[in-house]
Amino acid sequence: MDAEQLREHGHKMVDFIADYYKTIESFPVLSQVEPGYLRKLLPDSAPVQPESLQAVLEDVQRKILPGFLGEMLSAGINMVGFSWITSPAATELEMIVLDWLANMLKLPDDFLSTGAGGGVIQGTASEALLVVLLSARDKVLREVGKDALGRLVVYASDQTHSSLQKACQIAGIYPENCKPIRTEICNEYALSPESLTDSISHDVASGLIPLFLCATVGTTSSTAVDPLLALGKITKRYGIWFHVDAAYAGSACICPEYRHHLNGIEEADSFNMNCHKWFLTNFDCSALWIKDRHALIQSLSTNPEFLKNKASQGGTVVDYKDWQIPLGRRFRSLKLWMVLRLYGVENLQSYIRNHIDLAKHFEHLVSQDPRFEMVATRTFSLVCFRVVPANKNEDYVNKVNRQLLEAVNSSGKIFISHTVLSGKYVLRFVRETESAYGFRYLVNIVEASRVH
Ligand code: PLP
Repeated sequence: MDAEQLREHGHKMVDFIADYYKTIESFPVLSQVEPGYLRKLLPDSAPVQPESLQAVLEDVQRKILPGFLGEMLSAGINMVGFSWITSPAATELEMIVLDWLANMLKLPDDFLSTGAGGGVIQGTASEALLVVLLSARDKVLREVGKDALGRLVVYASDQTHSSLQKACQIAGIYPENCKPIRTEICNEYALSPESLTDSISHDVASGLIPLFLCATVGTTSSTAVDPLLALGKITKRYGIWFHVDAAYAGSACICPEYRHHLNGIEEADSFNMNCHKWFLTNFDCSALWIKDRHALIQSLSTNPEFLKNKASQGGTVVDYKDWQIPLGRRFRSLKLWMVLRLYGVENLQSYIRNHIDLAKHFEHLVSQDPRFEMVATRTFSLVCFRVVPANKNEDYVNKVNRQLLEAVNSSGKIFISHTVLSGKYVLRFVRETESAYGFRYLVNIVEASRVH
């Protein structure tokens, strides 16, 4: 969408919201729809070709507004839909859109809302991870007794996002039982199934209880992909909850040529992907799927008198308040639905492919220039590299790269982030435009610094 299209669409959206308020009294205060009404009105899958904003707004008018309790359209209309009854449209659209996205990712049917599982939009991957960890913890504690909390162990690689550590802190997992397993460059920083097995066997022999494994598809530092199938088989053997965090790289898996990174996802109990990272959806929108929604509900549900209603008591509806930490929730599915409809699957795939092609080109520029080296394999759109000065002393190389990063970022012209892998200070670059300006700019700074 270019600036002019944004202006045109933005004006239409303002008109739409203003018209809604003008006619607000014509809407019923309490929704008049039956559970499941929306699925009958919407197609089974996301559109392959983009649709017009006009078509989307007409559908909002005809199919979404009638489902409201008098509050709607995300930020503009400020609804707080925690139970089905407070917003049937928000609840049902979320179920449908996450089924669409699950199908685009070719997730197993167990994750669909039509079975025992389903999807829910959390604010962030951190919240997604926390709620599944709580579900896993409570499931095991129901079996072995609450006193066992101090013996529960959570596994992940040392490349796993820090949100796991935070989730463990909140869930009461003892710090010494939250085990980062060391990864090596020879495994491209992916979690080795052998190391996991060793760690589990050792813990079981010591009387500990293996609880949870968080594997990552696209780690934060270097976009490493953990081998889901092999890890999943181990978790099955020991009855461990298997969560897959694809916060960043999940988006790429809508392209058939990148879907293999999710091979083994059928072994997982839960999976999440941040639509607000690389899927053209504004923050916040983290999609979480779970195979056994009752595990979530058992951990997170409450049933106070003031929230009791016929639909919830009847047990035929989803009350997303029981799938998340807060009670209130925003109509986040509306924006994801609009992204899917306004771009269409093919355009979303092209968008991902274009970013990866740009990264491949940057990788090529770096690889063919002897002043630089790649530090980790590029798999998606992130390139991890560093400058290699004539003096190869590791401390000196790190210092030069740190200085280069500071010089580049202080210019305000391009932005590079960093990480440390195997003790090496690494520069991380994502390219979003066709121009090779970023690389030329880097080379100019390297030349000016005379480190060669
Ligand atoms: N998991 C991975 C792999 C990430 O890269 C990130 C953020 O960069 C997160 C989790 C945390 O994301 P959020 O900010 O949505 O909690």
